[in-house]
Amino acid sequence: MVQVERLRYKMQEASMDAFMVSDPRNWRFISGFTGDAGVLLITTNEAIIFTDSRYTEQAGQEAPNYTVVKTVVEKDVVKDTIARLEVSTIGFEKDYVTYGGWERLKQRFTGQELMGVSGWVEELRAVKSKNEIEHIARAQNIADEVFSQLLPSVKAGMREIDLALDLEFKIRKSGSDGIAFPFIVVSGERSSLPHGVPTEKKLEPGDFVTFDFGARCNGYCSDMTRTVVVGPVSDKHREIYDTVLRAQLAALEVIRPGIAAKEVDLAGRNVIEEAGYGEYFGHGIGHGVGLNVHERPSVGKTSEAVLQPGMVITVEPGIYIPGFGGVRIEDLVLVTEDGKKNLTASEKRLIVV
Ligand code: ZN
Ligand code: ZN
Repeated sequence: MVQVERLRYKMQEASMDAFMVSDPRNWRFISGFTGDAGVLLITTNEAIIFTDSRYTEQAGQEAPNYTVVKTVVEKDVVKDTIARLEVSTIGFEKDYVTYGGWERLKQRFTGQELMGVSGWVEELRAVKSKNEIEHIARAQNIADEVFSQLLPSVKAGMREIDLALDLEFKIRKSGSDGIAFPFIVVSGERSSLPHGVPTEKKLEPGDFVTFDFGARCNGYCSDMTRTVVVGPVSDKHREIYDTVLRAQLAALEVIRPGIAAKEVDLAGRNVIEEAGYGEYFGHGIGHGVGLNVHERPSVGKTSEAVLQPGMVITVEPGIYIPGFGGVRIEDLVLVTEDGKKNLTASEKRLIVV
């Protein structure tokens, strides 16, 4: 219940009597309830999960410290509860409300003041507990293991979609919840698409092949990228790959608690710029990973975040040259009390298949 107390402290500072958590990943983080329908309501004295009959039993088991209230279609149970609790100000997560949802909120809660807040739970989620770190590390172990199993089959003639499917199949067979996000497997000129989707294209000699993938364990994601070359390998392949690798190592080098996240970006970006490829690296160098594959903190040029022990971030510089191809190398890193721990074990030497 420690997270609930943290939220109550914020509520008190904002003179808010009740806080409605409506993002399923946010209420999962706070309460443990993994269902995806309902709302979590926190007041000064109460913590209530409202959900429908499909999830009430599950909510009771997963969140034993919470009152579970069954919602029905005939009446607005949330509204009735709020009226009974004599709440005057209701906070809600404004980033998860559509315009239609906002109109309905105003119609439902005419007797209360509505206060939209942003990032309250996401901020707490940025620093992981020991348990959360174990789930993420397990998801990363599975991804590393599965990639080493896949590598012998990566060769000219294989289609991108078959490689992506094989990775997914192996990740499911390894006992994970499944995939963390739709995988990126792109080859040749297509590897210059940082978020390209796998197609029927077959791998050809001289192609860079980029694999960006992750597993999910107990709801928690992993995220890694490796790029290989289908031989023969040219000097240009080596130069680009080597530049990305040096950038990644330089960024990893500076990670420690207390450093600004943008310094990590800068350390990697400088290497790429000095090598003359600055215009081909358009995205931030990393992001937090947890229940969502992209979450706080962002690790880019304009990030305001400061790294803290317990944060799990990616480090993923890339060079993407239209008409030629691209390289990205991505590791998953835990910020520790005295530095960092790289959770990714896969080889980073250039692999030629
Ligand atoms: Zn990735
Ligand atoms: Zn990533």
